[in-house]
Amino acid sequence: MGINLNKDINCWHDTFNARNERLQYAGNITLNLDYWDCECKNNYIYPITQQYCCICDSLQEERPSSIESEVQNHLFSK
Ligand SMILES: [Zn+2]
Repeated sequence: MGINLNKDINCWHDTFNARNERLQYAGNITLNLDYWDCECKNNYIYPITQQYCCICDSLQEERPSSIESEVQNHLFSK
């Protein structure tokens, strides 16, 4: 499957979900810019206000934004 990077980048735009968190559409993936994934196998979704995971030694700035559907699952599974 070919991916046209320029086209994908041009299609990126920001919007907000029901909790007023920033979303970014990257192709058919929706990212939530207010959360990020650390490298833990479980409970790897952190809010942007937390900058470090001491369990797996991950820094927010080195890790990708979380996928919106995973953020929703994470929040509702608490
Ligand atoms: Zn972690």
